[in-house]
Amino acid sequence: MVVDVAEVVTELKATYTSGKTKSYEWRESQLKALIKMANDHEKEIIEALRSDLNKPEFEAFVHEISTVKSSCKLALKELRRWMSPEKAKTSSTTFPSSAEIVSEPLGVILIISTWNYPFLLSLDPVVGAIAAGNAVVLKPSEIAPATSLLLSKLLGEYMDSSAVKVVEGAVPETTALLEQNWDKIFYTGNGKVGRIVLAAAAKHLTPVILELGGKSPVVVDENINLEVATRRIIGGKWASNCGQTCVSPDYVITTKAFASKLIDALISELEKFYGNEPLKSLDLSRIVNSSHFNRLTKLMDDEKVFGKIVHGGQQDKTNLRIAPTILLDVPEDSMIMNEEIFGPLLPIITVGKIEDSINVIHAREKPLAAYLFTNDKKLMDVFVGSVSAGGLCINDTTLHLAESSLPFGGIGGSGMGSYHGKFSFDAFSHKKAVLRRSFAGDIAARYPPYTTRKLQLLKALLNGSILGILRALFGW
Ligand code: NAD
Repeated sequence: MVVDVAEVVTELKATYTSGKTKSYEWRESQLKALIKMANDHEKEIIEALRSDLNKPEFEAFVHEISTVKSSCKLALKELRRWMSPEKAKTSSTTFPSSAEIVSEPLGVILIISTWNYPFLLSLDPVVGAIAAGNAVVLKPSEIAPATSLLLSKLLGEYMDSSAVKVVEGAVPETTALLEQNWDKIFYTGNGKVGRIVLAAAAKHLTPVILELGGKSPVVVDENINLEVATRRIIGGKWASNCGQTCVSPDYVITTKAFASKLIDALISELEKFYGNEPLKSLDLSRIVNSSHFNRLTKLMDDEKVFGKIVHGGQQDKTNLRIAPTILLDVPEDSMIMNEEIFGPLLPIITVGKIEDSINVIHAREKPLAAYLFTNDKKLMDVFVGSVSAGGLCINDTTLHLAESSLPFGGIGGSGMGSYHGKFSFDAFSHKKAVLRRSFAGDIAARYPPYTTRKLQLLKALLNGSILGILRALFGW
């Protein structure tokens, strides 16, 4: 069905202008409807994620369905507080007065989503947008077609269709959507399209949040609990959508002396998790499509990484599966070190001493996440103080995203803006400054005709000088 996107926007603008989406009751009803939708259709959602990515039920539930419900529940719990005007301090300049910051919805929001967590990454921003009182168009990714179709059907049934709409489609549909005048665009995906989104938004001076990716490094010190560290690296890499995760560990940096110990531990844990035939494991997602499969196998076939695979490497083209694969000491100029991997390949690069890892990270674009495993408090502080990334997680991977009190977003090449928890509400709100004054206390010195004495008085007021004020008033 061809959708007239201009008509969609006109309808949503009319709904927003009517004021309907601004009420607490409307926001509450929509958040509750999302929870009900997820509960009523859990099985279908899991099936869609299996169809798109062969995502194990465990990951589908924990990473996607339950996270969306938690976001709704948090918003429902906090909404009245988030919506309340925030008192602000006033100064002598405006005395007597009171000030507040009012969170105002932005209007009509476009959310363009991606395929790797197609349920979560479509709905989590929607939660923020409706909690903040906006109307929304969601454009899910065509690369996860089963989830896209299901979202379109379910949101149509459960949400207020005069304010929340799904437009399915690929590049032509997204291009048409981007031509419209939105109040904010929230995009998740790669940086190349991120630039297209930003350029389109510039035409209308539309603010944008870009949730992009990058090469997230994992620094592994020798001074660690190796078994726990290994499990947590595997958890963030292979047990999170087979490496197809924006904050997935992209590459590991460790010392030359420690590399073989780390690799042995990774192999041993991988075998415990996925057995001797990982291509047959039901606990490992598949690669999303043949184009991404070919991209990943090309990274392994690069002649610069010939002989560098120390574990894994098996492929099943028919079923789009690639085994957990570890490479050691790949050259800096290899393809695998120059693009986001977004799959089950993990290069390990070695340095003389662990502190050198910081320079390796600094030599690249700012990543979406950076990880450090160590027991050395001083090294932790150096890492936190010097590594610039969207977010950091010490002694674990990806888990900082699960903390709704922390903002999630990138910096530089990994994106701009952030969301999650209250940050989602703020991302879709305008912080309106309101100063309230009475008619009392009007100072004539503010107004023309300007005189030296008036200027003296204002300077003294601004400096908070009682003596200066008296001097100006009484000509001392
Ligand atoms: P994708 O191919 O699904 O594209 C994302 C969206 O952009 C889709 O809705 C698609 O229809 C649209 N799109 C694609 N080409 C377009 C074009 N030429 N013009 C307009 N719209 C277009 O997803 P992807 O880009 O392959 O996603 C993977 C990337 O997303 C990785 O880099 C990953 O790190 C990043 N990512 C980031 C986050 C985050 O939260 N920061 C989360 C997941 C993925």
